Amino acid sequence: MTLSKQKHVEIWQRCLDYIQKSVPSKSFDTWFRPIVPIELTGKTLVIQVPSHFFYEWLEAHYLLLLKTSISQELGEGASLEYDIVVDNYAEKKQTMHYAPQVQVVAENTTYTTLGANQSPGKQVLNPYMLPGTKKEPIKSNLNPNYGFENYVEGDCNRLARSAGYAVAKNPGKTAFNPLLIYGGVGLGKTHLAQAIGIETKKHFPDKNVLFVSSEQFLSQYMQACKKDEKGQNKLNNFIHYYQMIDMLIVDDIQTWEQKTGIQQAFFQIFNFLHQNGKQIILTSDKAPIMMQGIEERLLSRFKWGLSADLQAPNMDTKISILQQKIRHDGIVIPKEVIEQLAFHVSSNIRELEGALISIIAQSSLNKKPITVELARQMIDRFVKNASKEVSIEYIIRVVCEYFKISIELIGSKTRKREVVQARHVVMHFAKKYTKHSLAQIGEKCGGRDHATVLHALRTVDNIQETDKEFRKHLENIEKNFLGLL
Ligand code: ADP
Ligand code: MG
Repeated sequence: MTLSKQKHVEIWQRCLDYIQKSVPSKSFDTWFRPIVPIELTGKTLVIQVPSHFFYEWLEAHYLLLLKTSISQELGEGASLEYDIVVDNYAEKKQTMHYAPQVQVVAENTTYTTLGANQSPGKQVLNPYMLPGTKKEPIKSNLNPNYGFENYVEGDCNRLARSAGYAVAKNPGKTAFNPLLIYGGVGLGKTHLAQAIGIETKKHFPDKNVLFVSSEQFLSQYMQACKKDEKGQNKLNNFIHYYQMIDMLIVDDIQTWEQKTGIQQAFFQIFNFLHQNGKQIILTSDKAPIMMQGIEERLLSRFKWGLSADLQAPNMDTKISILQQKIRHDGIVIPKEVIEQLAFHVSSNIRELEGALISIIAQSSLNKKPITVELARQMIDRFVKNASKEVSIEYIIRVVCEYFKISIELIGSKTRKREVVQARHVVMHFAKKYTKHSLAQIGEKCGGRDHATVLHALRTVDNIQETDKEFRKHLENIEKNFLGLL
């Protein structure tokens, strides 16, 4: 080992001693302990930092401190050079040079750094703007269509919405930290979380807002866990990257159930952000206590803030949402159609929108006006088939199971009594539970025509009135069939 190699360690240690007295111990552990002194050449000390963001953070928060400490050790003309190990988030691996007070040469370009005393007339460049690199501002992943102005307020979302609004006006400073938004699929979690991010950016354009899906977060984490040829991983980079964020929004955290690795990494990030007054927003389709396999210590952190749930919207809210959508798209739709939709589509807002979109599409494809009749057809197709799966095939299966005959017989030419009876029963229930026309029902039952189906329906009605046993069969089948829905 050469003398200078030992010296750089000593010098850096003395700098650390000085720095340690001036910063809180948590910050010291986070930002100074991971730094590795590399070498000393003349009055230039090279230190290794784990990531580009780490470097930026040091520059932004500890410039003066670093400058003072290094100057104390090495005197006038001292300089500090950063070596950034590997950087996932910057464009390429490179060495970053930084010199307090003095001019440095990097990749054949002469410039002075920010924070240095610049002599007039010299070219001044931001030190991050090295040739071949540009400072990448954090991409927020916010979709402008998901603003608060498009988020209709209703009883179902009032608390969550106003908490979100408060957070956007005052990120990290309200009691709602973390803000946990939970609710069933399609009830507006993602939209609300996005709206908060967008609103925050309006009030605080300089804040780093990041919206990330739990899957993206997970895959970045997995990437960071991989070991490179030197047997090192980039976990620190990953964590430091996230620690730079002022508002971190993670969508659908229920996907982390049972995944301890990601939870640990998130725990670290969470603590750091929270301690530093940064805002955290999480969404989940389960209430926190219902999440299986989420570590207790993480769950208890969630309790620090506010859990606000989204409920299914009531009729009025559904109507307002639909009206809002059509106004937004500049379409005119009769009021009755809106009401039909709101009345029949109950499960969630995404389906409500889906039904609306298919009505609009149908009407423009077939050049039909949007009428209540068209709406009914679409609702039947959309709601019945999608959510309840009532199909003629399904009815055939249940009926055949009941009468213990094989399914193919329904469509066959057989006129055996028990087959004919089963066929009639299928037609009866198909009429009752599907919106198919008589012709369509006939088609599914072996290409029979509309008159045959009509005849079958009448026969079933007649027998039902007179034959108690037959009536019992129908009731049993109906029970089986509804019970399975
Ligand atoms: P989740 O994330 O809970 O599954 P989303 O946020 O994706 O649900 O919402 C589903 C759809 O419903 C989106 O297109 C969204 O814009 C819309 N939506 C949800 N809530 C509202 C609301 N209150 N006002 C207007 N549109 C809404
Ligand atoms: Mg969502």
